[in-house]
Amino acid sequence: MKTIFEKSIQGKRAVQFGKINNKIIKKIDEKFLRKTEIKLPEVSELDIIRHYINLSKLNFSVDTEFYPLGSCTMKYNPKICEKLAMQKEFLNLHPFLSYIDENTVQGALEIIYEISDLLCEITGMEKITTQPYAGAHGELTGVLLMAAYHKNKGNNKKFVIIPDSAHGTNPASAAMAGYSIISIPVDKDGNMDINILKEKINDEVAGIMMTVPSTLGLFENNIKEIIEIAHKYDALMYYDGANLNAILGKLKPGEIGFDIIHINLHKTFSTPHGGGGPGSGVIGVSKKLVDFLPVPIVIKENEKFKLDFNVKNTIGSVASFFGNFQVLLKAFIYIILLGKEGLIAVSEIAVLNANYILAKLKNFYDLPYNRKCMHEFVISAKKQLKNDIRAIDIAKYLIDNKIHPPTIYFPLVVEEAIMIEPTETESKQTLDEFIEIMVKIAELSEKDPDKIKQAPEKTPILRPDETKAARELKLKCDI
Ligand SMILES: *Cc1c(COP(=O)(O)O)cnc(C)c1O
Repeated sequence: MKTIFEKSIQGKRAVQFGKINNKIIKKIDEKFLRKTEIKLPEVSELDIIRHYINLSKLNFSVDTEFYPLGSCTMKYNPKICEKLAMQKEFLNLHPFLSYIDENTVQGALEIIYEISDLLCEITGMEKITTQPYAGAHGELTGVLLMAAYHKNKGNNKKFVIIPDSAHGTNPASAAMAGYSIISIPVDKDGNMDINILKEKINDEVAGIMMTVPSTLGLFENNIKEIIEIAHKYDALMYYDGANLNAILGKLKPGEIGFDIIHINLHKTFSTPHGGGGPGSGVIGVSKKLVDFLPVPIVIKENEKFKLDFNVKNTIGSVASFFGNFQVLLKAFIYIILLGKEGLIAVSEIAVLNANYILAKLKNFYDLPYNRKCMHEFVISAKKQLKNDIRAIDIAKYLIDNKIHPPTIYFPLVVEEAIMIEPTETESKQTLDEFIEIMVKIAELSEKDPDKIKQAPEKTPILRPDETKAARELKLKCDI
């Protein structure tokens, strides 16, 4: 007798699937076939629910706790962006947009066209490619564009100049594109040392990669002069836009002379990205570089959106799919939701929040550069070192207090660096609680440093040997 389940349409499919399966099994060599039943755990639904709920509680995210991870902009991202980006009309799009009939994906092409337009407006750049999948991928694309520009002009360029406070991906990208790196130290105020720059720059310099504001959370005071110097040598100015959150609606890199910019959409424009989640490293270029952009580009002709493969000196495609479409979509929704005023508020509040914490902590920690900060700032655990308390100990103690540690030991130019980025989405109450704990740590490190050394005490794993943990990954944890 057939069960109700088998009679149902799904049941029919399940039975058919079984038949297909049997056919496939017959083709598999006997020696590869399983001889014994799979040992699946016999557990109830309730046990499963408890297992996964408890596992999920071990996750640390912006949705559960404060996450002031400098350089990463771990802000709260509105759930509505996720929800809209999950519409089946978008989810079911074939990822190879370039290979399907344009008429069937007009909506998706329109979104790519519109987000490109909005990002040009925000950055002051001439044109955008949405292809790169992350900041680092954007950097590589940007430096390849730089190389194509110089090759086309017959320039003989060998070097890229990068300040030593830069993110490691900057020199890595420049090296991948075939350039040698000239590293310039920062001066006593945290700016790139302009005198050393003047000594080192020459006709063989292809470009200067600057992060503005820098990874020290400082605005580069000499930026206009640096751009002038670079352009005198026909060196292109590259803007690492990972910190765009600080200057939204305040500064357009294109308007002050930058030639290339990458934007980490997953940092500034609403995509949760903890644990290496999906990203987008959109690249914007000035007029000089439009003819080298990757293809295809979405254009609008007679109210229809089309893919244009005719870019004169294109460097080719840098992504097999059309970028991370869902991330582009979320950025589009986020920008539309916030509007111009909202975006300006983002940067103003991000900068205000960072300065608020800085002002409250600067008497307790060493401050390498005593200036107003932008959206993030770097303090040092140098003062605590005399009691054998290092940045890592502070980070571990914060974990016990349900706060994600700030970025530590980066940027490399600051000893015992602790890099704090509160973002604009945190309440004053959260900031005050964080300040309170940081002050308590500074006091404890004088009175009872062992208490900090013993942290964390509340996590499933205490202090692993981090080098060993990275080399010998153990992905199973018996909790
Ligand atoms: C995050 C970051 C990058 C790299 O971006 P990814 O998206 O992580 O590849 C580059 N520069 C700076 C300053 C960053 O903070």
